[in-house]
Amino acid sequence: MAYTEDRSQWYEGQGLWQHVPQAQWQDWIWQLKNRITTKEHLEQYMTLTAEEEAGIAHAGQKLSLAITPYFFNLMDRENPNCPIRLQMIPREAETKISAGEMLDSLGEDEHSPVPGIVHRYPDRVLFLVTDRCAAYCRYCTRSRLVSNAQDYNFHPEYEQGLRYIESHPEVRDVLLSGGDPLLLSDRKLEHILARLREIPHVEFIRIGSRIPVFLPQRITPELCEIFKRHGPIWMSIHVNHPSEATAELKAACDRLSFAGVPLGNQSVLLAGVNDDADTMKALVHRLLRMRVRPYYLYQMDLITGGSHFKVDVRRGLEIIKALRGHTTGYAIPQYVIDAPGGGGKVPINPDFVEEITDEEIVFRNYEGNVYRYPLTAEVQIQTASDPAYGVIDAG
Ligand SMILES: *Cc1c(COP(=O)(O)O)cnc(C)c1O
Ligand code: SF4
Repeated sequence: MAYTEDRSQWYEGQGLWQHVPQAQWQDWIWQLKNRITTKEHLEQYMTLTAEEEAGIAHAGQKLSLAITPYFFNLMDRENPNCPIRLQMIPREAETKISAGEMLDSLGEDEHSPVPGIVHRYPDRVLFLVTDRCAAYCRYCTRSRLVSNAQDYNFHPEYEQGLRYIESHPEVRDVLLSGGDPLLLSDRKLEHILARLREIPHVEFIRIGSRIPVFLPQRITPELCEIFKRHGPIWMSIHVNHPSEATAELKAACDRLSFAGVPLGNQSVLLAGVNDDADTMKALVHRLLRMRVRPYYLYQMDLITGGSHFKVDVRRGLEIIKALRGHTTGYAIPQYVIDAPGGGGKVPINPDFVEEITDEEIVFRNYEGNVYRYPLTAEVQIQTASDPAYGVIDAG
């Protein structure tokens, strides 16, 4: 096993499912069939809090409850504040709707020219190919349609979506999402990828998936062959907490990387899960060790019943500030807010710039020290002796 230096945190094993033959444990269909989906099932393994019981009673009308045995094992069942538990087990707070919250907070339905396609940016589309996931995140942005608990009745129309992309030459980038595209069978996924590859103007294909995290068993050699055949296929995985970065996830990322799939990570900033700098640093370092480049850190979308996960943006900025300069540049995700109503993703950055004038820009480094950079040739010559500018060759 890799990463013996912090072995205790790199979970590997069958935990509560020791009695299950290893071949079954490693079979993704077995994992899906044996998901924990009811209160009674949960209670076989843990004691629920009153808040959780109330949340579970409501989940059927909001977003289904489902946890793969593999992912369930990562939970600390003694700790109601376990970050895995907070993400997976519904709580009463989900029933409370706060000001500004919306069912479709990103206005995706308004930007959908045909079912399953969201065309918000000029050159790229989001292609929703399923409404199912291996497990359900309580903060899911698309909980209006994902798992179909709200009778949204999303029917992925691949043909209509593919025809839309074919007839729009401006679409050079297609992002497959859902739900989770890797829940589709190999055959369906290969069909979609092959069709997209035939479209001359589609030059970039990527998949957003949390399956490597919930169900690493799904990343089979056969699936990797499909990515190789139709590559390059890029993938954004979705890891929020370092305890999700297991030896199994590492192995799945290895298989994807060796099949030529560049990997990025998207995290959602979640209260009690990853809203402190130490946790975030541990997470991004583990991701780099798995060849995964942190891509986005999302401010929580304003979804209904999500306020208990919301983190103050100033805290998010502090976290980014604690990373910049203090660790590898590759490790730092771009913090974004997906503009409510559908404005797209907007970067939110800590301010390092103090002042910009016609003569100079004044800025601070990660230690808080002030530096100046001259903006005109004139200033360069006049200030060549000023040590604040460093050594400048005026000749
Ligand atoms: C996030 C998103 C994309 C992809 O955005 P990038 O910044 O290119 O990763 C495309 N379309 C929609 C509707 C999205 O929400
Ligand atoms: S995996 Fe993604 S789409 Fe599925 S429930 Fe979680 S956040 Fe939503």
